[in-house]
Amino acid sequence: MLPETENLLKLQDVDKQIRRLQDEVAELPKRVAAIEQKLSGTKAQLEKAQTAVKADEAARRKYETNINDLRSKISKYRDQSLDVKTNEQYKALLHEIQFAEQEITGNEDKILELMVNADAREKQVKAAQAELKQETADVDKEKEQARERTAEDEKLLTEWRGKRDQLRAGIGEDLLRHYERVSKFRGSGIAEVRDHKCMGCQVILRPQTYNDVRSGKETVYCDSCQRILYFDPKEELVEQKPTAQRPKRHHPKIDASQAWYYRPEFAEGGEVFLCLTNNRGQASRRVYDIYTGRLLGDILIREGDYRQAFPADITGSTRLNGLWTEEELDDFGDELPMVILDSLNADLDLARHEASTGSHAKQHVAEASTEQAAS
Ligand SMILES: [Zn+2]
Repeated sequence: MLPETENLLKLQDVDKQIRRLQDEVAELPKRVAAIEQKLSGTKAQLEKAQTAVKADEAARRKYETNINDLRSKISKYRDQSLDVKTNEQYKALLHEIQFAEQEITGNEDKILELMVNADAREKQVKAAQAELKQETADVDKEKEQARERTAEDEKLLTEWRGKRDQLRAGIGEDLLRHYERVSKFRGSGIAEVRDHKCMGCQVILRPQTYNDVRSGKETVYCDSCQRILYFDPKEELVEQKPTAQRPKRHHPKIDASQAWYYRPEFAEGGEVFLCLTNNRGQASRRVYDIYTGRLLGDILIREGDYRQAFPADITGSTRLNGLWTEEELDDFGDELPMVILDSLNADLDLARHEASTGSHAKQHVAEASTEQAAS
C-alpha cells in the first residue's frame, strides 16, 4: 500500500471520529432543552393544582356568605310574621322561611363536598411539589453531565483535529481534494478491494484496475464510484481460509414484520441501511447512513405491507438480519447506536461473503420455499 493511501485510510477513521463528536456536541443542547420542557410541564401541573385549591377556597367563602345572608333573611321574616294581619300573609312568610332554610342546607352540602375534595386537592399539590423537586434535581444533574460531556468532547475534538492536520500534511493536495469531494457525496472517500470488487459500491473491477490496486504502486480510483481503492493482503488470507472460519450466517425470515436492507446507492445519500416495518396495517421506512448511522430524511409511512408499499427500495437491495421493536427504533431517534450499526455492518460483511462464495443461491431457494409455506 502507498504511504499516502495508508494516511488516507487513517484520515477516514479520524474524520469519522470528528463527525461523531461534532454530532454529539450538537445533540447535547437539544437534550437539555427536552428535559427543561418536561420540567415546565410539571411546573404547570403544580400551578394548576394550586389554582384549584384557591378556587375551592373562594367558593367556600361564597357559600358561607350565602348562608349568612339567608340566616338574616329568615330572622327578618320571623320579625315580620309577628305583625301579619291575615292567615294568608302568615303562610306566605312561612313559605319564604322554609325556602331559605332549604337553600341554607344546599349551601352547607356544597361546603361539605369542598371539604371532602380538599384532601384530594392537597394530595395533588403535594405530589406535584415532590415531582417538581425530583425533576429539578434530575435536570441539574443532567445539565451538569451534558456540560462535562461537551467539555470532554471538545477536548477530544481538539486532539482528533490535531491528528487530522498531521495526516493531511502527509497526503498530496490533489489526492486530498479528490478524497474530500467523494467523501462529501458518498460518506466515504476510500474503499477496500476484496474479491475483485470495490467494497464501496460493490462493482467488480476490470482486471487491469484490480492488478494496479494489488501492486500498490500507484493511486487507483474506482471507475464507478470514484473512491480511492486499496488492497489489504491480510484480508486476502482471511478470504482464502475455509469458510468455517467465519460464523455461519443466520438467514432473515421472509415474512418478518421488520426487514433491514443494504443499498449501495440511495438518492443523494450514498450507501444506506433501510428499515422497513409493518405495523397495524401500515408500512414505514427509515433510511440510515451506513457509516454514521444517522437517520436520513423523514420516516415514510404508507398503507399496506412494506413489500407492496416500497417495492423499489427492496429490488436490488441486500437483505440483512435485524429486528428491533418500534419503541427501540423510536429510542434510536436520529442516530443508530454504535452497537446496532456494528451488528448491521457485520451482517452485511457476512452477506457479501456468502454472495461471493455462492452459498446465497441456496438461501434464495430456502427463502422461496418459506414464502410458499407462508402464503
Ligand atoms: Zn466503487
